[in-house]
Amino acid sequence: MLPTPLVVPSLSLPWPGAEPILVAALLGACVGSFLNVVVWRIPREESVLWPSSHCPRCGTPLSWLENIPVLSWVGLRGRCCHCQAPISRRYPLTELLCAGLWVLMTMARPDGLGPRPAGLLVVIAGWLLVSLLLVLALIDGDQLWIPEPICRWGVVAGWLVTASVGWQQSAALGREVLGSHLLAAALGLIGFDLLSALGTRWLGRPAMGSGDGKVAALLGAWLGLAGLALAAFAAILLAAVVGGLALATGAIRRQQPVPFVPFLATGGALLWVTGTTPWLRLVLGQV
Ligand SMILES: [Zn+2]
Repeated sequence: MLPTPLVVPSLSLPWPGAEPILVAALLGACVGSFLNVVVWRIPREESVLWPSSHCPRCGTPLSWLENIPVLSWVGLRGRCCHCQAPISRRYPLTELLCAGLWVLMTMARPDGLGPRPAGLLVVIAGWLLVSLLLVLALIDGDQLWIPEPICRWGVVAGWLVTASVGWQQSAALGREVLGSHLLAAALGLIGFDLLSALGTRWLGRPAMGSGDGKVAALLGAWLGLAGLALAAFAAILLAAVVGGLALATGAIRRQQPVPFVPFLATGGALLWVTGTTPWLRLVLGQV
């Protein structure tokens, strides 16, 4: 469907050697472990910091040995060692996914941020972005709902981070990036809400989730208008393919509401890694 070879030539590490990949994987797995807690507790209106991780059945607090990302789950064979309650394999899978995404972000080449965006700042920005997107995608997948404060702070973080990357190169560039990303976030929210209203009128039932526009605003704040448009386009293509397969195999019923944020999040992360150029070249045959 989407030719990956176009992406590969632009990938390179900001530092030489394998250490950055190892550091990103280890940090990403630890953050993934924390995101598991966030995804479980926020919809239940519980604090994400207190109490510390515990078994949901017997309530025994987990020791540090039971809290090591991925390895603890494997060592415990997927069961609580106090009450033998099964621990979902989703936890280690989320930790692995987060580790993989953090590694991918060390190679990210987002564009529209000036000719010489600083390596480390862009990598850390990417880590923050994928962590936010992973939380939003998992919560929407579970609940068909997303927590608005995370989106709101994600939008503000996107403006601050991308403007800082511009500012590092020149004050004028910082202002330019901030202006265009303010506009892109506003257009993302308005555009998706408009599409949702039109779709609802046409279908006679809610066409989209109310969180989709907020996540579009977040992507606008991080990626700018071209990045947002391409991420949304990729999300629609991906949702059509996955939704079609799920319908064909009977995994979902017709008219069953399907979360769209996981697709938007995938499109957004993809565009942060590759930048817009390969896709514009593909779609428009130029650039
Ligand atoms: Zn237990």
